Parts: sequence; structure tokens; C-alpha cells
Amino acid sequence: MVIKMESKQKYRFKCKICDAEEFNFDIRKGNYTYVVCAGCGTSILHPIPDEATLKEFYETYEKDGGDYLRIRELDKGPYFKDYDLTFSDLGFDLKYSKNVLDVGCATGIFLEFLKEKGINAKGIDISSKMIEKGKKKGLNCETTDLFSLSEKFDLITLWDVIEHFINPKEVFKKVYQLLEKEEDIIIQTPCKGLISENFKEEWRHYNPPQHIYLFNQNSLFYLLTLTKFMIVNWIRIGSGNDAGTIPAKPKKVFDSISKKLGIEDNIIVWAKKRC
Ligand SMILES: [Zn+2]
Repeated sequence: MVIKMESKQKYRFKCKICDAEEFNFDIRKGNYTYVVCAGCGTSILHPIPDEATLKEFYETYEKDGGDYLRIRELDKGPYFKDYDLTFSDLGFDLKYSKNVLDVGCATGIFLEFLKEKGINAKGIDISSKMIEKGKKKGLNCETTDLFSLSEKFDLITLWDVIEHFINPKEVFKKVYQLLEKEEDIIIQTPCKGLISENFKEEWRHYNPPQHIYLFNQNSLFYLLTLTKFMIVNWIRIGSGNDAGTIPAKPKKVFDSISKKLGIEDNIIVWAKKRC
């Protein structure tokens, strides 16, 4: 008990999700520490890196951490199939989307998917190198800060990106402003739960300094509701094992069990702007 109280006192900041000021040690990974908010249960990288450090990191991201993006470029088929399946599972019909913003578009895989469907879309990303690649493919994408945008969209997507921001609450508030009345947001992010608890520091989403906030389902829903979104539907995906990290057969078994139990370690949420 004494140890717990001491560790709480070590972390002096305010949770940007729920405003709580108490934290417990979560895990240590290399030189980085994650703490858990006593208020909402989100794991937060501590200390949170500043803008300049992150900007520098993402400029070399393609070299240091972009392997999975290169693999995606080799064969888009499975990724396009996954997007189709995701929208179908969510019950979201893309035919009503005419003007999409993809935040954190990287080299533009999702933009290509939309282009194939004839949907007008724009992508933004912090990494100029990624954007260069997207532009070479003829995609509408820019190295622009989300907070500098002012035009309106009828769908905003954030695939694996909200966990990278220093202040996710401000991101959802900005996205709210950029959406037309009662329009839609789709967010995919890692989701803490049984899988993260069992993998501990080996959980694939403890990925500093990129992943700053690791939500659980409740803390993500709380933040969306707080920023005036209504949750329409959600799905969970993934058993905690990336393809190729374990043999295909046990991976299939783990994936299937996780799906049946609804404990998968990523969440995709469809929410609507409340007016
Ligand atoms: Zn919190």
C-alpha cells in the first residue's frame, strides 16, 4: 500500500482524457515508462514527448518504423479486403460519403481504397516522406497539421492514429468542427484489456514514443461522448499476435477464440457528430 501511494505521487500531471491526477506504474519498455490513469484506466507514456521530439521521430519513421507500410505497398489486396470487411461489420455504407478526410494517411493506402470506389478524399500526415510517396501515386495528400484545416468533410477517418497524438481530446474537438452536421468519424486504435494484461510489456502496442495513449474501450467511449460524439457501432479485432510472429495455425486459433470472447486488442468505432 505504501509503495502504491509513493508511486502515485511520482507522476504529477493531469490526464488529458478524464482530468484525474493519480497514476500507477504500468510497464517499462527500454527507456520509456507507461503509467495507468487511476481515473480512466488509459495507459499513458510518461513523460509525454514534446512536439519537436515527435516531429523529428516521424521524419525518420519511414526508415525506423515503417516496415509494415512497405509490406502493405507490395500487396494491397488483403488490406482492401480488410477495409471492405470492416465497413460491412460496422454496417457503414460508404456510398453516402462524398468528401472524406483521412488523418494520418501515411503513404495513402486508404486513400487508394477510396479512389478505387470513386470517393473524393484528402489525406494528411506529419511525415513529409510518406506524403511524397502518396503524391507520386497521384493521391490528394499533404503534410498539414490537422489544426490548420478549416474545410468541412462528411467522413473523417483516423486509422491507428489517435494513440499518437499528444492531446486526443483536442483532436476529437477539432474533428467535430471539421465535420458537417450529424456526419461520421471512424477511429481504429489499440484497445487494452485481457490481452494487454497477459502480454504485459510484450504487448505489441506498447510502442514508444509513437503510442502515447493506449485506451481501453470505456476510456475511448468516454472521450468520444465528452467531445459530443454518439457511438453508433464498434468492432474489436486482433488476438495480440501480428502475422508472422507465431505460426499460422495457433494464430488462427487465438484469433478465433479472441473474436468469440470479444476481447480483441484493437477497436474500430463508428461515431456520429451530435448537434
Ligand atoms: Zn484518465
